[in-house]
Amino acid sequence: MTTYYQQARFAFSVNHPSQLPEDPQIEVAFVGRSNAGKSSALNTLTNQKALARVSKTPGRTQLINYFTLPDINAYLVDLPGYGYANVPRHVREHWQTLLGNYLLTREPLCGIILIMDIRHPLKKLDLQMIECCQARNLPAHILLTKADKFKRGKQQQQLITIRRELQNFSSPISVQTFSSLKKEGLPTLVQQLNRWFNIKIED
Ligand code: GDP
Repeated sequence: MTTYYQQARFAFSVNHPSQLPEDPQIEVAFVGRSNAGKSSALNTLTNQKALARVSKTPGRTQLINYFTLPDINAYLVDLPGYGYANVPRHVREHWQTLLGNYLLTREPLCGIILIMDIRHPLKKLDLQMIECCQARNLPAHILLTKADKFKRGKQQQQLITIRRELQNFSSPISVQTFSSLKKEGLPTLVQQLNRWFNIKIED
């Protein structure tokens, strides 16, 4: 049910692996290139206009931001966007260490939602994210965002192309189209999250 996600509240930010919570709650992380539409997707999922704005406030963009889902004792995690142009080297290195460490070793992490602009999918850093998932057999679910930029036929074509390109990866990867603008694709995203969070919907 989407209502679980509508309860999301900002919990805290993490700037160093030692600050990651030790409680046993499971978590799903949202990750993607800057400007791909990650904040919009989080806002659409949680039905809160300003939720992911927290992650965009100066000083928080390079942090891992945790949102708690009180009803299901779980976290949504907003990872720092990557691929910013002209980022100073020390910032990029900090980001790579924090993110790489998180993706490769974070025990409560049960899946990632990888956000890609449908017009610019599978860039080098996106593939690196998928490789991190492969390394520990972590499932990834890809949102091809801004799907409204394409007509229906071209959306489907792009889905097929991307699924084909991903078929050689051994870890579980699913792909869907998504539009925050048109509120399209939300049920599929919720279904995936419910599966990872082990939420069973009674009919
Ligand atoms: P982030 O940097 O990945 O968090 O990206 P944002 O969510 O801030 O979105 C970046 C830009 O893309 C903003 O101008 C959004 O309005 C726009 N955008 C995000 N999602 C969509 C979408 O589904 N459709 C369209 N047309 N634009 C979108």
